[in-house]
Amino acid sequence: MFGDLFEEDFSFISNNHCGKGKKSKPRDSEPPAPRDFTKLSGIKNQGGTCYLNSLLQTLLFTPEFREALFSLGPEELGTLDDSSKPDAKVRIIPLQLQRLFAQLLLLDQQAASTTDLTESFGWNSHEEMRQHDVQELNRILFSALETSLVGTSGHDLINRLYHGIVVNQIVCKECKNISERQEDFLDLTVAVKGVTGLEEALWNMYVEEEYFENENLYRCGACDKLVEASKSAKLRKLPPFLTVSLLRFNFDFEKCERYKETSCYTFPIQINLRPFCEQTEMDDSEYMYELFSVIIHKGGCYGGHYHVYIRDVDELGNWQLQEEEDRLIEDKALRDIENAKEIENPLAVLKGILAEEESKQIPVDQLGQKLLEEKGVSWNKKYRKQYGPLRKYLQNHPQIFQFSPDENKVGLKEKHKLPFKSDSQGQDFQSSPQKNDVQWNSEKNPTRLRDGSAGCHWFDLNDSKVQPIKEKDIEKQFQGKESAYMLFYRKSELKRPPEARGNPRYQIPEHLLNEMNAANTELQKKRAECDSANNGIDLHLHLSSCYKFHNGALHPSLTWKESVVDLTIDRRKTLGDLRQSVFQMLESWEGDMILSVAKSLPAGLHLYQILDGDELTLDGIGLADGADLFVWNGKEVGGTKVMTGPDHEPVVINVLRLAEYNEGGKGQHFTESQHVFSCSTKVADLHTALAPSGGIILKNGSGLDKEAKNWEVFREEDMKETVKSVGLTDGCSVLILDSHDQSFVNVSSGNLTAFTYDISWLQVKNFCRTDGDEKHIKITATIETVMSDIKRKAIRELQLEEELANDSCLRPISGNGKLLSPVPEDYTVKEAELKMGSLLGLCHGKAPASTQLFLYFIVGSDQNASPEMEIVVEETVSVKECLNLMLEKSGLSGDDWHLRRIDWCYEAGEALSQENATLKELNVCRGDTLVIMEGKLPPKGFLKIPIWWLKSSSHKKHGENAQDQVNGMTCKMDALQVSPSGDSPEYIHPDMDLCYAGSIEIAGEASLEDLKMQYVLIWHLLICHVQW
Ligand SMILES: [Zn+2]
Repeated sequence: MFGDLFEEDFSFISNNHCGKGKKSKPRDSEPPAPRDFTKLSGIKNQGGTCYLNSLLQTLLFTPEFREALFSLGPEELGTLDDSSKPDAKVRIIPLQLQRLFAQLLLLDQQAASTTDLTESFGWNSHEEMRQHDVQELNRILFSALETSLVGTSGHDLINRLYHGIVVNQIVCKECKNISERQEDFLDLTVAVKGVTGLEEALWNMYVEEEYFENENLYRCGACDKLVEASKSAKLRKLPPFLTVSLLRFNFDFEKCERYKETSCYTFPIQINLRPFCEQTEMDDSEYMYELFSVIIHKGGCYGGHYHVYIRDVDELGNWQLQEEEDRLIEDKALRDIENAKEIENPLAVLKGILAEEESKQIPVDQLGQKLLEEKGVSWNKKYRKQYGPLRKYLQNHPQIFQFSPDENKVGLKEKHKLPFKSDSQGQDFQSSPQKNDVQWNSEKNPTRLRDGSAGCHWFDLNDSKVQPIKEKDIEKQFQGKESAYMLFYRKSELKRPPEARGNPRYQIPEHLLNEMNAANTELQKKRAECDSANNGIDLHLHLSSCYKFHNGALHPSLTWKESVVDLTIDRRKTLGDLRQSVFQMLESWEGDMILSVAKSLPAGLHLYQILDGDELTLDGIGLADGADLFVWNGKEVGGTKVMTGPDHEPVVINVLRLAEYNEGGKGQHFTESQHVFSCSTKVADLHTALAPSGGIILKNGSGLDKEAKNWEVFREEDMKETVKSVGLTDGCSVLILDSHDQSFVNVSSGNLTAFTYDISWLQVKNFCRTDGDEKHIKITATIETVMSDIKRKAIRELQLEEELANDSCLRPISGNGKLLSPVPEDYTVKEAELKMGSLLGLCHGKAPASTQLFLYFIVGSDQNASPEMEIVVEETVSVKECLNLMLEKSGLSGDDWHLRRIDWCYEAGEALSQENATLKELNVCRGDTLVIMEGKLPPKGFLKIPIWWLKSSSHKKHGENAQDQVNGMTCKMDALQVSPSGDSPEYIHPDMDLCYAGSIEIAGEASLEDLKMQYVLIWHLLICHVQW
């Protein structure tokens, strides 16, 4: 019938509360949280059950109710253990309520569950739960309880405590006959709309009379006619506990919608019900009631949340006053609110004015005048609309205002005239609080006076959350979106026995006490287990005997598992305890035992601070679960001194070098290796270690990214820095470029921007060794690589002695395996005209300098008889000097020799006749071959002219001989068939042979006739002497 009105709407709850609730919610495996400092238990919200929780807490804090319930034993209710037995008469609802109450009183948990209870109601789903309104639920619960208690001594439990009677009377004005009708009630429903508070509502209901008159007459049964009559209602029987339901929800028929009445509706902490009762002559104590519970609805009419303010009558909870300072601040704020409220609350305003009056009563209109003078507002303007006419208002508060018999003057009732002085007031309140029936109205009296006094411990119970509040906080619930919805009063006369005070076990039956004790023991046990589980930390002990120090860090000499001992210990224990435990585990340990914090780094295990201070807790030292500790003597491991601390952390650096060769041509140009350095290593030392022969070192800040563009050269000033200070950390890369490598890359403004050339390679074969090692190696190079770099690298790669660099050279090897002329050391690959991939021989002997010539020479023209020899000479030596050096090298002597070039068919060619000219002048080049020939060169000024004889084929037989014999040279005639004069080929007669006839030495100044004479002489010789 209420739809979703009572569905939970958490938007009203601050995030803070929500967050806190979630945080403290224990995990399923963990025991529930214990009670907080209030020592009171909340009730879990099981989905829309906040209204149920509020009502259950109210019933719990009705000691007379819970004690009556507890007084019903198993003999009457049966036991829950029997609930599954078919024949057993088990009254589940009261049993579940008993158990829940016992839990709320005794079980040390933050919040109890109502699942078992709601199931006993037959509510199994949220749907069924949220169908109820708290006022409706109150009746359902009472009814269910009553039904389930039928036939037990508790059958009248509800009636005994809550039942009251209202009597409605109609009095005939003529025969005075009284017609009456009784109404039973368990709670009173009172209007909110149009009334200022509970007292006014009760006044309207039980003091005001309704008249039947004029056209609206009453038919009197006795007179049997329509008569004038008065109708009134009175409280005939007051229950010990008066429950008041406020009609906050109304229906607006004009707008055709429900709305929540949020206007101010006051209610007193203490109330005297005498004016509303039929019987008024009893003692005051029979009419006095004290507020003990206020169920509050927060929200609008289509959703909201319930919580409850409850007075802890038996002082079961720990009600702590807030700090004095807090309160002073709060009080100031409250006072400001009060001042504003004072104007809002006409009752307080009028009381204030009347209290100041010397004379006891003043005329009503004079009161209105004073109101205007003192507060600057007139009644009609400020209050009439809401509260009605002043006189009516005064009459509606008879417990406060007293009229003169003629009703013209008004004053305060005697008890309200007490001056608002804390001393007398406070004492008065403490000695006889029941007299202060309208204590809530004494707004100028700080509620603080009652704080701490007996029976005024109020708590706000909001599902699982319980917190102490001040009595004054109740006033905040007079109006607004969050305001009182149900009020629970208890008769002041009901006194609590002294033994009940602060005793939650009071009147709880033995079996429930036992059950709760057992449950608490179980909870404690679980919490202790959970606690030790939460506080247990696993430490990994690394034993120094199982470790070796190498490569900058500690490494287990066995497997990890064998080198590490795990130890579980409570973090609240001390370092001394830990040391003791370790000693016990390592029985054979001798000497000092130092425990150092260790950390596994990429380089290996590294040690940090030594644990010190045996009295400190492990938690205090900062040891966390999973911490690594190294157990050692504090000095060395396996004989190696171990440097500890963050300043000596080993760093694994990725060292890249350009690949020695790169067969694919593209792609990976690097070789990688990992080196460990202490982070305190100087960059200069790093440089020396990685590039002993010089070169440059570049770092790549981006670690794994090996893009060339990110490389940055270490500057000279970086050299004094440490590995750590220049930002080299684990995994950082450095690139080492030795001197020849640098030519590959373009390092501009400290950044390596690109590789200049594609890198290729040359092959080098070792010719220095004679042991026949045919090892080829490949050396990376570009066309710009300098030969000396290639040589040095080859020597290193071939693992030859470094000194060899000073006495070796690289010589290209021709396709048929011949070692060619050595390449000058300062030539680049390009200058040396070497093809990439070509083979070089590393040979003994210095390479010629650029001013030197490497020459081959042979003796005689028969190369088979004379092996080819090599010589290096300055290019500025003369032909004669060169000849002498060659003769010396070949072991020849005498001066009957001359030098000739070798011609293109490897035969002795042109003689180097200018003996005093330098080789350079004669264009003798590196790699040329010269021939040492016997015989002197013609004297200076003579020419040696070869003579060719053209003869007919008939003379061929001679010609063949002649051809073979000319200077011992093999000469194919057809190759010489060139026209000496440049004429057409036809000039050579086809049947004629060209025959070499020898040469003639003749002075350059001789005439052509002289030459002819010489020729004739030779021709004669040719004819006459067959063998020349
Ligand atoms: Zn009558």
